[in-house]
Amino acid sequence: MARGTLLVTAPIRASWHVGRVANRRPETPSAVRLELDVSTWPGNHAGSHLDIRLTAPDGYQASRSYSIASSGQSTRVMLVVEELPAGEVSPYLVQQLDEGDQLEVHGPLGRYFVWSPTESDRSPVQLIAGGSGVVPLFAMAMAREYESENADFRLLYSVRTPEDVFFANELASLTQTAVDIVHTRRAPPESSRAPGRLTQGSLGGFVFPASATPRIFLCGPTPFVETIAGWLLQLGHDPTRIRTERFGGIR
Ligand SMILES: Cc1cc2nc3c(=O)[nH]c(=O)nc-3n(C[C@H](O)[C@H](O)[C@H](O)COP(=O)(O)OP(=O)(O)OC[C@H]3O[C@@H](n4cnc5c(N)ncnc54)[C@H](O)[C@@H]3O)c2cc1C
Repeated sequence: MARGTLLVTAPIRASWHVGRVANRRPETPSAVRLELDVSTWPGNHAGSHLDIRLTAPDGYQASRSYSIASSGQSTRVMLVVEELPAGEVSPYLVQQLDEGDQLEVHGPLGRYFVWSPTESDRSPVQLIAGGSGVVPLFAMAMAREYESENADFRLLYSVRTPEDVFFANELASLTQTAVDIVHTRRAPPESSRAPGRLTQGSLGGFVFPASATPRIFLCGPTPFVETIAGWLLQLGHDPTRIRTERFGGIR
């Protein structure tokens, strides 16, 4: 995945663009990886998102937000969309949107939930994802990957089964981010941990201690984010250093 030739250092104004699906492939049995060519894209920081707007032939419109898995000044924008079977937009994006199709995107959005390699704060960065919440955190880990020296990175990724892991090959190849994958329903045979949700007691073993004053980026379904954020506070983490992004919905 290209980062583009330059880091994004200047403020970026969000606006509407037309994107063309350059590439699509299954990411998991229920998710698709989409690469969009957006010729007018101004670049984006790692962690930002965009809105997709679909318009039906009768003029009905629906918009949804999707995190951007890529970063930098490239005009190739990568998304991963998980299908919610009863959803309005995601089944269309996963099952029907095809290479060559065009769609409207608005962005990049989100100045708060981003990480830039140029930041002066070099304290550790803890990434915590539930399900598809890994997408913006993957962009941050990839941005960190291009740096020889920068903050220590750790990723904790809660996912149902091994087949549901997004970016499986890329995560296994990361050299600058320590990755822990916690399986909630079924773990791989070689796993030393029985499947099950994170608990208040187990969380501390997967994250930088509060004494290291990490910055924390936490993303996923709303109940996941709220539960983990509460436990982080009980572990003594500074609330001003915890940034959250909620995808909505149930888990
Ligand atoms: C900032 C931001 C970034 C996002 N990034 C991504 C991303 O990278 N990849 C991705 O797949 N999704 C992402 N989402 C979620 C996405 O915007 C949609 O909510 C999702 O695709 C469902 O849309 P839908 O129209 O198919 O379902 P809807 O018709 O909107 O909802 C159907 C039902 O599913 C529930 N629901 C909605 N969202 C979720 C969810 N995430 N998990 C479980 N239940 C849910 C609703 O409560 C409702 O009951 C992001 C959301 C936000 C706010």
